[in-house]
Amino acid sequence: SEPRSSDMAFKDEPQPLHILFFPFLAPGHLIPIADMATLFAARGVRCTILTTPVNAAVIRSAVERANDSFRGTTGGAVAIDIAIVPFPDIGLPPGVESSPALSSQEDHDTFFLGLQELREPFDRFLSENHADAVVADSFFPWSVDTAAKHGVPRIAFLGSSMFATACIDSTVRNNTVEASPDDPDAVVSLPGLPHRVELIRSQMTDPKKRPEERNFFQSLNAADQRSYGEVFNSFHELEPDYVEHYRTTLVRRAWLVGPVALASQDLSARGTSELSADADHFLRWLDAKPDGSVVYVSFGTLSSFSPKDMRELARGLDLSGKNFVWVNGSDTDATEWMPEGFAELMAPRGERGLTIRGWAPQMLILNHPAVGGFVTHCGWNSTLEAVAAGVPMVTWPLNFDQFYNEKLVVEVLKVGVGVGSLDYASKLENRRVIGGEAIAGAIGRVMGDGEEGDAIRKKATELGVKARGALEKGGSSWDDVGRLMDELMARRSSVTVDVN
Ligand code: UDP
Repeated sequence: SEPRSSDMAFKDEPQPLHILFFPFLAPGHLIPIADMATLFAARGVRCTILTTPVNAAVIRSAVERANDSFRGTTGGAVAIDIAIVPFPDIGLPPGVESSPALSSQEDHDTFFLGLQELREPFDRFLSENHADAVVADSFFPWSVDTAAKHGVPRIAFLGSSMFATACIDSTVRNNTVEASPDDPDAVVSLPGLPHRVELIRSQMTDPKKRPEERNFFQSLNAADQRSYGEVFNSFHELEPDYVEHYRTTLVRRAWLVGPVALASQDLSARGTSELSADADHFLRWLDAKPDGSVVYVSFGTLSSFSPKDMRELARGLDLSGKNFVWVNGSDTDATEWMPEGFAELMAPRGERGLTIRGWAPQMLILNHPAVGGFVTHCGWNSTLEAVAAGVPMVTWPLNFDQFYNEKLVVEVLKVGVGVGSLDYASKLENRRVIGGEAIAGAIGRVMGDGEEGDAIRKKATELGVKARGALEKGGSSWDDVGRLMDELMARRSSVTVDVN
């Protein structure tokens, strides 16, 4: 068969495709976008990532490493560029430019609404530069119209699973939460999905408490549907029923190009300008542990836990009997949460565990043979990184799409066990405390001997093989990247544009 344009980008294309990436200002969006740019750049696409100064620092190391790795193939040209625009003056303190830095509901609302101000620099970029497509965050719904004004296709980036996106679409379409009884314990069914999906009412965001949040998500869903298409950090073999559901039932176009983390050229400092100073030490500590003996515990970049939650988590880790690495970003004084005997478990006094303060090299930890389980909040990046590493999960969702991702992991893919998280709550709200026994129980079911653990681990390993295969030449994600590139190239020759 004829080689495709995407395979020949370096040989025959004098003008490579140019894609502008425009991520939401939170690490969970910036990190996969930098990885995705790396993925497209490796196929010969020129990539620009538009962001603000503080957020550029989060991805700079990953982008520099990627450019280093491409030098030689690009004839010295920079493959990925970061276009920095000032953070808009919307009344937030200096340096507060990203979700994890927000400390009140008021700042949070200011941030979400105020980011509309980025419309102007985004518009200016498209006036001054040619782009064949924009991959813009779903959280920037206004980017559809701005891109349309310049005749540039807007491809929405949803930093979530297709499963969760289909669940959200079902709740919006059917007014599911509004129509359900006003009882936190009510079981709510999500109609029209390939699987029977049921949540407890308290696991869902309450539209009465936050009508503006519901309206926001409705506007995102509508803008995504008006877009040229949608790109997912996922892969066909992971959620095939939802790929089909998207295409035939929802009639939406999607490309699945993940797991994008596997494209990263910077597995240690990916996502930070300040890798924890002890990173080498943790990895050496892991080297000394038997295969599959360590549970890794981390809740992403936006979660916070009360001293009571932390005490129970510490008790759970102790009771589980497993070795553990716990990324604990809390500033809470140890005397407020640390249960008796816990300090003795940890190095240098004990051999059982480590806590990490600061940024952990998550990809290196998950892919270390000593790690046999991951206690996760089910943020989509973390979930997919665990899938790609073949590591089974202990699921502890907190908010956003995480309760849906838990359903996917536990009930559909069967590569995890839940701790029994029941309350959707922002980091500023209270949740019911989950007891140490429940946490230890879930860790035991995933990592322990016996049929259930064996079956879960076998599935996780198989899924990891499929995930890695998806990105290899001829794999499903490889093909989706190629399909999208070919389509954009064909579009270029059918539309009269000035490519200079
Ligand atoms: N991450 C990391 N080290 C840390 C904390 C987070 O590398 O100490 C990365 C993690 O690998 C993932 C991202 O940060 O890529 C977090 O995204 P996720 O969607 O899991 O959670 P969020 O922070 O958006 O809730």
